[in-house]
Amino acid sequence: MEIQDPRLRSLLRQADRVTDSGKRAAAEQLYRQIIDEAPEVAEAWYGLGRVTAVPTDQEAAYEKAVTLKPDYAPAVRALAELRGESVPAWAEVPEVDDEAEAAISEPPVAASVATAVPATDRYELVCYRHPNRPTSLRCYNCGKPICSSCAVKTPVGYSCPDCIREKEDVFFNARPLDYIIAPAIGLVLSLIAGYLVSRFALGGGFFTYFIMLFVGGVAGRFIGQLSQQAIGRRRGRYLPQVMVAMLILGTAVWLVPYLLLGGLSSLFLFLGPGIFLFVAGGALYAYMK
Ligand SMILES: [Zn+2]
Ligand SMILES: [Zn+2]
Repeated sequence: MEIQDPRLRSLLRQADRVTDSGKRAAAEQLYRQIIDEAPEVAEAWYGLGRVTAVPTDQEAAYEKAVTLKPDYAPAVRALAELRGESVPAWAEVPEVDDEAEAAISEPPVAASVATAVPATDRYELVCYRHPNRPTSLRCYNCGKPICSSCAVKTPVGYSCPDCIREKEDVFFNARPLDYIIAPAIGLVLSLIAGYLVSRFALGGGFFTYFIMLFVGGVAGRFIGQLSQQAIGRRRGRYLPQVMVAMLILGTAVWLVPYLLLGGLSSLFLFLGPGIFLFVAGGALYAYMK
């Protein structure tokens, strides 16, 4: 069956390229993605068979490809070779001149590993963080062997925790000074918001709760926006948490005297400010993230 969807066609080309570059785990993920969407594409099943590390999956994938497309020579050949059967003459590798033949006799690493290595050899790798765990997975980025509990699934393949961390470090580009500027702005704004909330929302009724739902969202976003602008929209790994802490601090200082005066018996008084803190904190956190 021809692939109609241009997106799937380009995904398939990409998967074939990834296979040729030897990144089997990443390629497998791509083929499985194509199969999820279009299980009738024989080329994707054949590709999956070339890269998967599970021998039973490999045979099943080739078989599926041949069922879908009985005249698909590479798949017919691969299935016959895998089962140790003779390859039908029509599916043999076509005659080629010497130079091209030399290239074929040395297939890319991925293909030779996937088809030629016996099943037991595939698990000689051990996780680089857990030397007692055999694995067949590798990080698509650095190639280090990883066990299934260390592997982090990404759109392009499984990654090791080190590579994930490295990518995050690029993403989190905040400078040390940003951790002073943004929280300072956050605290000042939170003190203002907290004062107003303590004036108008303390002991309020149902209407107040409703207003606080709205005001909290706006205030949280506003505080996030202003402090992010001040630090050039850089992002910090712990900045969202720090900013929420500033919001709680800025609001709480106005409420503590009332809490001391009224004691725990007056907790319902704080329902309005509580709603404000909850909603504003959530909005602020989401904005800073
Ligand atoms: Zn890695
Ligand atoms: Zn591990």
